[in-house]
Amino acid sequence: MDFKYAKRMDFIKASEIREILKVAERPEFISFAGGLPAPELFPVEEIKEVCRIVLEEEGAKALQYSATEGYTPLRQWIAQRMNHRLGTCFDTDNILITHGSQQALDLTGKVFLDEGDIVLCESPTYLAAISAFRAYGCNFVEVPTDDEGMIPEELNRILENTQKVKLIYVIPDFQNPTGRTWSLERRKSLVNAATKHNVMIIEDNPYGELRFEGENLPSVKSFDQVGCVLCYGTFSKTFCPGYRIGWVAGEKSVIRKYVLVKQGTDLQCNTLAQREIAKYLELYDIDKHIAKIREVYKRRKTIMVQAMEKEFPEGVTFTRPQGGLFAWVELPANINARDVLEKSLEKRVAFVPGGSFFPNGGKENTFRVNYSNMPEERIREGIKYLGETLKQFM
Ligand code: PMP
Repeated sequence: MDFKYAKRMDFIKASEIREILKVAERPEFISFAGGLPAPELFPVEEIKEVCRIVLEEEGAKALQYSATEGYTPLRQWIAQRMNHRLGTCFDTDNILITHGSQQALDLTGKVFLDEGDIVLCESPTYLAAISAFRAYGCNFVEVPTDDEGMIPEELNRILENTQKVKLIYVIPDFQNPTGRTWSLERRKSLVNAATKHNVMIIEDNPYGELRFEGENLPSVKSFDQVGCVLCYGTFSKTFCPGYRIGWVAGEKSVIRKYVLVKQGTDLQCNTLAQREIAKYLELYDIDKHIAKIREVYKRRKTIMVQAMEKEFPEGVTFTRPQGGLFAWVELPANINARDVLEKSLEKRVAFVPGGSFFPNGGKENTFRVNYSNMPEERIREGIKYLGETLKQFM
């Protein structure tokens, strides 16, 4: 049979991370590859209780179809939380519940992107955002990015010289993959540039609540005077990714467009999951829970950074994140991280080569390491093996 696939399938490739994760999932592996939260921190006992209560008190409603926009008390909670933490002015109707922020990425493609449109992104950027947007036939222009975010002169130059820029996609807090955080000035200048050029900004913020060092910074959205910033959020990193509950927040007229496309995609998010999360938020103290996550990740990050300082050869540099799940390693230009991975897998240590985080290719001498998912001893052990492997390449 000659399967007549849609043209968009030409744009869609297997994710390298998923292939590596399949291997690294085996228990004998020390995996710095995925982006998995620490499973021992999931509040399993509390969730058991919450499930029981939801089914007993509102079972029929929790098992029924429900509104595309999402469960109102949960949307209310999210709006209040964002206003309090991110300096936004949202109410319930500014929020649409999505199946993780990953679905927000896909819906964004559906709402905004035509074939040949341009998405500006950080260099590097989140791999699965590249795949989600690329399915809609867009092209990417990577904006030169340093430790403080996109470089404003470069961003302005690109905006002035590029036709059909539809979106600027950024992860300003503890970015995936680099762990970097944008400075205040860069946040402001991004909004100014987008406002001037009438381009939408997507502020993807799955890690903002996981700051374990330094001062919180205002969101990009908090500088937005014209409604040009859309925010994504998620319960994946502060609660449990298995629920697949996230959200997109923005101007009501824009959110209404998302609601329309979500209806054609999946009608709504899982009613039971939304009610369970809302009940958890009502009965338990999520701030206490998040504080525990922060504490564990801070320890793991510190151990990883100290181990990298000790074990990695000279000429290898890496970021020192103040929050989130990832650090980013840069090797001398002549070393390909894919070759390093091949060797390190022999020692059962996995990470993700950095090349695929650059939508237009490039920087093969980089890789991403995750520190949230491995116990402390295994982090030390894994970085030691990785250091030994790196020394063979220097
Ligand atoms: N955006 C970024 C930057 C991410 O790192 C992730 C998760 N790895 C997501 C979106 C998707 O997260 P989820 O769908 O679980 O909310």
